[in-house]
Amino acid sequence: MRIILLGPPGSGKGTQAQLLVQRYGIVQLSTGEMLRAAVAAGTPVGLKAKEIMASGGLVPDEVVVGIISDRIDQPDAKNGFILDGFPRTVPQAEALDELLKRKHLKLDAVIELRVNESALLSRVEARVAQMKERGEEVRVDDTPEVLTKRLASYRSQTEPLIHYYSERRKLSTIDGMMAIDEVTRAIHRQLLALGAVEPKSHARSAATATPAKRTKAAKKTAEKPVKAAKKAAKSAKTAKKAGKKAVKGTRKAAKKTVKKAAKKSARKTVKKGAKKAAKKVTKKRAKR
Ligand code: AMP
Repeated sequence: MRIILLGPPGSGKGTQAQLLVQRYGIVQLSTGEMLRAAVAAGTPVGLKAKEIMASGGLVPDEVVVGIISDRIDQPDAKNGFILDGFPRTVPQAEALDELLKRKHLKLDAVIELRVNESALLSRVEARVAQMKERGEEVRVDDTPEVLTKRLASYRSQTEPLIHYYSERRKLSTIDGMMAIDEVTRAIHRQLLALGAVEPKSHARSAATATPAKRTKAAKKTAEKPVKAAKKAAKSAKTAKKAGKKAVKGTRKAAKKTVKKAAKKSARKTVKKGAKKAAKKVTKKRAKR
């Protein structure tokens, strides 16, 4: 399964992506995370991105497209992925379409998390407080000033993607103001409706079981016809006996029914005859 999570900063994309990763066993590809790692490692990409990210701007399209293209080729992404924070512009979306086509991969859905803008600042403040509590380094772009800039860039550059994917019938919009688990459930329902996930995504069938389990399962299945044949033979004998009894019973019952019917029709005939005779008498009397 390959999906995109779309939404402004603080809409819960990262949180939902992590929950979906656990549920479906796919990987989260977050360009923000990858860029932060590149900045921390001081790679050429990191050096290029550092200032832009700190000011709330967008890293050039070719940089992020290159990162994503390489990441999709990694073995752990073969099972599927969730794109979080990418694409962020229409040219990035076009580049993604192009590279997926080249890699013969299909995008299953684009999930937009819609939230009230007024809630975003307090959400990001809560995220900062939690990170501080856990002793984690706080993001340099998680300040009210930079958030305002990130929001402005979302509105002008990323929001057009809603139209882009809705035109391509890929977009599903979810109310991101619901509780975290409710949002997860709504996403799951949407993925089910789109056929992107199996109804019982956790159930293992004989076909998907590990080889050892498959052998056991196959043995069981192979044994089934023999057992079934024996059972059938036994039940056939029983049925024969029961059949004989039933035939006897049926004959008796049939005889009874015939007798009853005969009696009934005889009674009817008598009644009819009597009625006819009575009618004749009445007619004769009337003539006289
Ligand atoms: P995020 O963690 O998604 O909020 O991203 C943090 C920052 O990384 C953004 O404000 C951008 O500066 C940069 N960034 C992440 N993803 C992209 C992208 N797809 N295109 C351009 N810049 C990005």
